[in-house]
Amino acid sequence: MRRTVYNEDHEAFRETIRAFIEAEVVPVHDEWYAAGQAPRDFYHQLGELGVFGIEVPEEYGGAGEESFKFQAVITEECARAGVSFGGSGVHVALCLPYLKAYATDEQKKRWLPDFVSGRAMYAIAMTEPGTGSDLAGMKTTARLSEDGTHYVLNGSKTFITGGVHADRVIVCA
Ligand SMILES: Cc1cc2nc3c(=O)[nH]c(=O)nc-3n(C[C@H](O)[C@H](O)[C@H](O)COP(=O)(O)OP(=O)(O)OC[C@H]3O[C@@H](n4cnc5c(N)ncnc54)[C@H](O)[C@@H]3O)c2cc1C
Repeated sequence: MRRTVYNEDHEAFRETIRAFIEAEVVPVHDEWYAAGQAPRDFYHQLGELGVFGIEVPEEYGGAGEESFKFQAVITEECARAGVSFGGSGVHVALCLPYLKAYATDEQKKRWLPDFVSGRAMYAIAMTEPGTGSDLAGMKTTARLSEDGTHYVLNGSKTFITGGVHADRVIVCA
């Protein structure tokens, strides 16, 4: 069956990703698998390749693409090669939409350039030891400090993809 969802840009991107996977990921993937994680440096490589900035607005250092299709290409190419890009899917597919929707302009200016380069990796913490699908049962609280300068988080989170390497975590409380 001939697919029509991708254009020439997507297919050129696919070639780049495929070559990157063959050169940089396939030879070391067994080691990552045994270690249970991709090394932190790999996320810098992905940042250099430009994959973290595709959907970040241009004013914050990204390419300003609205479509998720480039990420879909990455998913397809990882599946084709039988490899994983570690927790980077969460960085882009789960965390970025929250940052775009809810971060202030000042926060976007401060956070997104490092998001794009891979200098700051993101994770999202929803699940708790006693709460999975039913997020309404979360027990973690976020209370504004008395001087109003920060939030104090109390609670436990578990199963956080990329949590080991994360520099910033979006915590649901
Ligand atoms: C690989 C992996 C990565 C993850 N990464 C993250 C992450 O980055 N951040 C994060 O916060 N969490 C993460 N999680 C946790 C994940 O979000 C939870 O596992 C998920 O929400 C399910 O919760 P649970 O495991 O407690 O199962 P439960 O919610 O207890 O569900 C157990 C079973 O009951 C079924 N069930 C639940 N509710 C109902 C219902 N109302 N009706 C019928 N059936 C129901 C479910 O389908 C399931 O079969 C990750 C989990 C995995 C496996």
